[in-house]
Amino acid sequence: MKKILFLCMTALMSVAMLTAGCGDNAADRDSSSSSSTAKTLKIGSSADFAPFEFQGADSNEYQGFDMDLIRAIGKEMGTDVEINNIAFDGLIPALQSGNIDIAISGMSITDERKQQVGFSDPYYDSGLTIAVKADNNDINSFADLKGKKIAVQIGTTGAEEAKKIPDAQVKEMNSSADTFLELKAGNVDAVVNDKPVNDYYMVKNSDNTVKRVGEKLTSESYGIAVKKDNTKLVGELNAALKKLKENGEYNKIYKKWFGTEPTDNK
Ligand code: GLN
Repeated sequence: MKKILFLCMTALMSVAMLTAGCGDNAADRDSSSSSSTAKTLKIGSSADFAPFEFQGADSNEYQGFDMDLIRAIGKEMGTDVEINNIAFDGLIPALQSGNIDIAISGMSITDERKQQVGFSDPYYDSGLTIAVKADNNDINSFADLKGKKIAVQIGTTGAEEAKKIPDAQVKEMNSSADTFLELKAGNVDAVVNDKPVNDYYMVKNSDNTVKRVGEKLTSESYGIAVKKDNTKLVGELNAALKKLKENGEYNKIYKKWFGTEPTDNK
């Protein structure tokens, strides 16, 4: 009987010690960071959208404005970030299923997406523009795209807008890089992409075979997306973003990728 009692007591003590151990760890986690998300944040990004997210030719490291920004935000929040390359049209499903915590991918804040995910404050002002082959003189505006063949990236605002153009044949490609390949191959008359992406392509591919035409069709703002109703994480992202704008870090990252100071720090 004594032996049984002893065994029971030992078991109880072990449970008590384990519980105490867990408690200590939880306390450590809380005190190690001001953020309640002191863990590795899983980031999703479609790394085919230079200069916001891409992999360099000489290194597999994810580079770009969004990549630098989310690393700086992670640092500010006291968390590590793990970047996962996910196709653009798979990012919202990945947030919804909980496979990732955050999507940063040049994603425009739209009413439709706001039904599905939560967004941070806007962090970059963008909009759509057209690019055509350098020797094309027929297409000078969106109105001229009527009845034309247009390449766009699947699941994007560019795809949505192109589908509204009367009689246009819209080819949905996996990436913006693929839209340019279609254009150069002569398979389409024009591409519709985000302005900074079209602009960056012109600078990086200075063979002058492609040109940008017309004004911006839309005014769009990029936001960082999280699972819908995760207002806590949105609050933490916004606080970090605000801090980076105040301490000059946002401007530094902006200048690195766009060569200028942001005129409007959204
Ligand atoms: N800004 C566009 C959108 O949100 C394109 C984004 C992208 O291709 N990465 O739809």
